[in-house]
Amino acid sequence: MKYSDPSTWHEGVSDYEVAMRPRPQLVQLVSSLIENHDSVLGHLNLKTPEVYFVRNLPEDHVARYIDGTAPKLVLVLDAARIARTAKKYGVNLVTAFEITLLHEYGHAWLDAKFASDRPADEEEEEVVELFAQAYWRTADVEGSSRVLEQYAERLEDI
Ligand SMILES: [Zn+2]
Repeated sequence: MKYSDPSTWHEGVSDYEVAMRPRPQLVQLVSSLIENHDSVLGHLNLKTPEVYFVRNLPEDHVARYIDGTAPKLVLVLDAARIARTAKKYGVNLVTAFEITLLHEYGHAWLDAKFASDRPADEEEEEVVELFAQAYWRTADVEGSSRVLEQYAERLEDI
């Protein structure tokens, strides 16, 4: 997580409004969540994510996976919006951040598998959200990632 020097930012990140001084508590929360994601990232063949904190993501998004970066996995997170949304819906803050990260891992896995410019459609959104919720509930990497694998198989059949 690096902010101060835009020349070190991953390509594509400067398209977003990078928060130069994100709230340290939220940065710490995201770091500690990611530290606990070794097994799920490993199972999905993804590397430790490189996270940038941004503001005002378009279309009310709370996070984006930067297309084409998997398995390296570059994410932008609108931490302030995640926190506001969690509060609004009475969701635990840690849960909201964890599910957001897992959701983006799902997109990254599918992107790595198909290496195409195929935009995420509604079905993909549902599938990656199911994966995120299932992993959050069960911490069962194999069981929860099955929904991603089944979706990938369906896409391969088309
Ligand atoms: Zn999504």
